Amino acid sequence: MDNPRIADRLEAYASLLDLAEANPYTARAYRRAAETIRSAPVSVADLVRTGRVRQLRGIGPGIEARLRELVETGDLAELAELERELAPGLIGLGRYLGLGAKRSVEIARALDVRTPEELREAAAAGRLSEVPGIGPKTEARLREGLAREVEPRPPRALLLNRARELVGAIADALGGEPAGDVRRWRDACERLAVVCAADDPSPALARFAELAQIVAVIEREERRAVGVTVEGVPIELVVAEPERLGTALVRATGSAAYVDALEPLPDAGDEPAVYEAIGLPWCPPELREGPFRGEPPDLVALADIRGDLHCHTTWSDGRASVEEMGRAARERGYDYIAICDHTPAVGAVTGLTPDDVRRQAEEIAAANEALAPFRVLRGIECDILPDGRLDLPDDVLAALDWVQASVHGGQRMARREMTRRVEEAIRNPAVRCLSHPTGRLIGRRPESALDLERVYEVALEEGVAVEVNGLAPRLDLRGEHVRDALAAGVRIVCSTDAHSVLGLANMELSVHTARRGWATAADVVNTWPLAAILADA
Ligand SMILES: [Zn+2]
Ligand SMILES: [Zn+2]
Repeated sequence: MDNPRIADRLEAYASLLDLAEANPYTARAYRRAAETIRSAPVSVADLVRTGRVRQLRGIGPGIEARLRELVETGDLAELAELERELAPGLIGLGRYLGLGAKRSVEIARALDVRTPEELREAAAAGRLSEVPGIGPKTEARLREGLAREVEPRPPRALLLNRARELVGAIADALGGEPAGDVRRWRDACERLAVVCAADDPSPALARFAELAQIVAVIEREERRAVGVTVEGVPIELVVAEPERLGTALVRATGSAAYVDALEPLPDAGDEPAVYEAIGLPWCPPELREGPFRGEPPDLVALADIRGDLHCHTTWSDGRASVEEMGRAARERGYDYIAICDHTPAVGAVTGLTPDDVRRQAEEIAAANEALAPFRVLRGIECDILPDGRLDLPDDVLAALDWVQASVHGGQRMARREMTRRVEEAIRNPAVRCLSHPTGRLIGRRPESALDLERVYEVALEEGVAVEVNGLAPRLDLRGEHVRDALAAGVRIVCSTDAHSVLGLANMELSVHTARRGWATAADVVNTWPLAAILADA
């Protein structure tokens, strides 16, 4: 049993524990364990067998016992029992329709239905109005949703990393390819789709309905199905005839506006053949947001990246030491990494004082001896105070190789104040890059009122770059902003803001977000060799 499968079962268990109104801490613990397992670099089944699984963070004796059962028997008896009792298919369908899990269970009980199909039949027969608390408006909305008169959309957009995982796992299981928003690397994904090829679509459609992630199939046609997860997230499967696979992939990748402008599309077995037939160069999916028929630029690629300029260590809120981060970056093939821990004003976590910065320099020097010619740069993620001053004295900043400036507190400042604050900070000659410029957290905190156009003007004057932060909830700047920054002549930095060795993998999200902003390697500071980074200081 592989890690994603184990994680899926634990997550399903956590969801059902929530529904059964078990202790919320328990459900949270299972969910956290699932997350750890999903990203574990080793086989968790092996760790269970050799009695070492509790070395993983957040795995105590209770969860260890569940994992043992899962690895030895292939499932969890209690989970199977809960699934029988709580009908996750109904819950997934209910969530997709905008109902809470408890409400779905109530409705199912009132109508005495056990499956999504039965619920649909009951709705079609006009029985929803029998349920206490369902008025004509709600009934109409539910019937509309069940009749699939609207495009399927998740109850809320999924973060790109979660969507990639989900769609990637389904594509792998079916031997297909991820399409939809994931393939265009959208920051928040709504249209999730997988395309695969087969002359006879039945086996793929049947396997799709059987997948652990799919609790109910809400729509089924000859070569297409839409399933939902227990969270109510709809996923579309297209089973194309092999000679039409390329055309199906273009259509399922979207965006709708981009595809509409290319139609009518000829049938072809792969994407390059589709483009050739319509006389256009192949277009990277990241550029398919709006109608575009031109020659795409040579976009920056992961392989162009030579170092990571924003990461944390145990000196602030990171989980690995300076040397561990350096070593991991070297293993990724980089030439350098900048250690950018927090400063005291960040508040919630430890920040480095001037004295800490000097002491950290010794540790960095030792790491450099161990890792040479790889280079660990002395950096900082320095807080921008509310009045625009920086959180460390100028002489301390001047001694560093790389300074990121960040707004953390006071994100809701008015536009003029916020813009003046950031402008003042990036005029400090030590500052090389503005971190997560808008401060947004996708779905949780909007972008600040910062006047980005003004920031680009000042950044250009001062030779300061702007960051494309690769943390999935941030992706800040986003693609549209990257395009504006580049048009203004400002360079970008693709960074991970890694808080662990694994976090360095966020570079992929950053680079693809930069690609959505039409960035080429020349636009990205950390495609430069080390000497150029140091010389520019
Ligand atoms: Zn930050
Ligand atoms: Zn950071």
